[in-house]
Amino acid sequence: MISMSKDKQDKRTYIIDSTAIMHFFPNDKIVDEDSYLVIPDILRSEIKSFQAKAVLEVMSADQRLIYASPSDHSLNTVKETAKSSGDISSLSEADTHVVATALDFPGALVISDDNAVQNLCSFLGIQIETFSFKIKTRRVYFWKCIGCSNKFKEKIAVCPECGNKLKRFYRKKKIKG
Ligand SMILES: [Zn+2]
Repeated sequence: MISMSKDKQDKRTYIIDSTAIMHFFPNDKIVDEDSYLVIPDILRSEIKSFQAKAVLEVMSADQRLIYASPSDHSLNTVKETAKSSGDISSLSEADTHVVATALDFPGALVISDDNAVQNLCSFLGIQIETFSFKIKTRRVYFWKCIGCSNKFKEKIAVCPECGNKLKRFYRKKKIKG
């Protein structure tokens, strides 16, 4: 957890993921000027595209920008929540760091166009901003065997009962507000 002065705590904090960086973030329409921008440390090494690297380099000159690594406690919370929502198999290591970093900054918003990141945030009560796509329903994923129709909470290679493949399904829950 990063300690901040009182003044800085009053400002809005935005956690930026790789999909947000790809949209030439920071975008003034989304982020107000005196807000805080947080990029999880892991993105520095995980971002591969030339374009995103260039954007990241430009952003690094921004006085508002900080790099941060999430606490182990928040990472565990995120991974446990992702297991029960079924998002875990759709999330990269960087994705889990984005959401966990948001937990370390109370009141922070996550900026992401990623479906699984948004879904996970809705389960954890983290506010989301997006550039294009925003989910309207919360999903709880499960896997069903195409042979015997057995249901599983987690993704596994093949059905332990009959050896057939599994297909992903979900139950929907509307997000309030
Ligand atoms: Zn089966």
